[in-house]
Amino acid sequence: MDWDEIARNPLLVENYAMFRDVGILDYVDQQKREIKNNQHLLEEAYELFRMESVDKIVDYILWRLSDKFIPSSVYIILNEGIMVDKIKTIAFQSMQTVEKSLPLETLRPFEEFFKKYTGTTSYLILKNELDEATLAPIDICFPEIIVPIQGFSGLYGMILFGEKILGEEYSPGEISYINRLMKFTSISIQNNIHYERSVRDSKTGLYNHNFFLSRLKEEIARSKRNHSVFSIMVMDIDKFKTFNDTYGHLAGDEVILSLAATLKKTLREGDILSRFGGEEFTVLLPDTTPEQSWIAAERLRQAVEDMVTPYQEHVLKVTISIGIASIHPYSLSSAEDLIKRADEALYQSKDRGRNRSTHYRSGLLNQALDCNP
Ligand code: GH3
Ligand code: MG
Ligand code: MG
Repeated sequence: MDWDEIARNPLLVENYAMFRDVGILDYVDQQKREIKNNQHLLEEAYELFRMESVDKIVDYILWRLSDKFIPSSVYIILNEGIMVDKIKTIAFQSMQTVEKSLPLETLRPFEEFFKKYTGTTSYLILKNELDEATLAPIDICFPEIIVPIQGFSGLYGMILFGEKILGEEYSPGEISYINRLMKFTSISIQNNIHYERSVRDSKTGLYNHNFFLSRLKEEIARSKRNHSVFSIMVMDIDKFKTFNDTYGHLAGDEVILSLAATLKKTLREGDILSRFGGEEFTVLLPDTTPEQSWIAAERLRQAVEDMVTPYQEHVLKVTISIGIASIHPYSLSSAEDLIKRADEALYQSKDRGRNRSTHYRSGLLNQALDCNP
């Protein structure tokens, strides 16, 4: 039976005034609003759980909160390690998103506070509990309420709401909505953190080999469907054993880090760079022909040759050798075949004196010839 049917019931019509006077009708209205709010919240949770990056989650939350409450400002501050290695601030002000930085070094001084106040809290309470120096960086945002985003791994971030543009207070219903939305947000961030950790190499932050393999298999399937061409590279640091023996393992680790950064910034955005293990790296280059992959490899090789890593009193330098293999859409090969070919080409690079790139060639030229055009 729906509400219209109830309303047509003669018994209700007869007793309408009484129901109204004792507040039953208001109560029903309130319940209807609550059901609607919960439906919206479920839809929002579903949206949040589908998001595949913290970036997207933050954009979505910023848009939802500003749309619903029209506050003078909303600041989302993400703790270090959630998206980048340092605190990241995203702000909404004067009806638009602005990139802001706050003079905030860490969220650590807020962790204890949010263990006690786990939900939306008035900024006045914060002012009573924390010292001036801790609050100075966020005072400049004029927050009215402050909300933690926290989960299994601690404090992921916090949200500062300025006063509403129309000046009213945040109602208990709105605060309860914010609290529930933050619970879904923290689960969604948590899922993203877990996912990111499962596909990344912990030392360099590059993708790990498993992720590379699954992307490679996807790319082979795409190539079958669309007849697209793509290439892969396998690279290895030259004479790294000798390097470690000369400068020590820690110096070697330092070089691996700067190498990862150099390769990353030299590649295009869609390229998948992964650490194969040890001092070996692989790259998947979508939509890249053999000629283009050769140029990309030489750019990487040269960038590494030019790279210097200051370490203690030393200025460290290394070179890499690269093997490349491309897929031809009309003679498809498996992921294993392709890696094997790139590996063969890498051995050719090593054999021919290192610090060079070689493209695998099949058929009569099956010996992975140096393909410097
Ligand atoms: P080649 O030019 O033939 O590649 O010579 P190589 O000495 O580099 O030989 P190989 O690639 O087989 O040796 C890899 C060496 O890299 C062995 C290991 O000590 C070192 N290595 C692997 N992973 C790491 C790492 O994470 N840190 C450091 N410091 N060294 C590593
Ligand atoms: Mg090696
Ligand atoms: Mg090596």
